[in-house]
Amino acid sequence: MLIHCDFCGGAFDSEKHATCPRCGASWDKDAEADRVKKEEENQKQAERNAQSTEEFLQTANAVRRTVNSVGHVVGGVLGIFRIILFIIALIIILAIAFIILKFLR
Ligand SMILES: [Zn+2]
Repeated sequence: MLIHCDFCGGAFDSEKHATCPRCGASWDKDAEADRVKKEEENQKQAERNAQSTEEFLQTANAVRRTVNSVGHVVGGVLGIFRIILFIIALIIILAIAFIILKFLR
């Protein structure tokens, strides 16, 4: 396992050297193991956070897509409704026009 000396920062293999070959400082195996474990846990936590962010974004996208398609359906229905209203209004106007013409004759 490659570790870094706490005193001089030199990298060395902890399997081969009991002390730092650069400055001679001994290293605390337990402390180093704790440090590595903590780093691994931090890494895992970061991965979990990234995963939940990804999941959140996917959910948000799904919700956005659903809202969009509902919006399209509502918009389509409103469009048809508007056309029907326009046709009814046209029929009423034509009927009134016919009645007026009938009275004028
Ligand atoms: Zn050292």
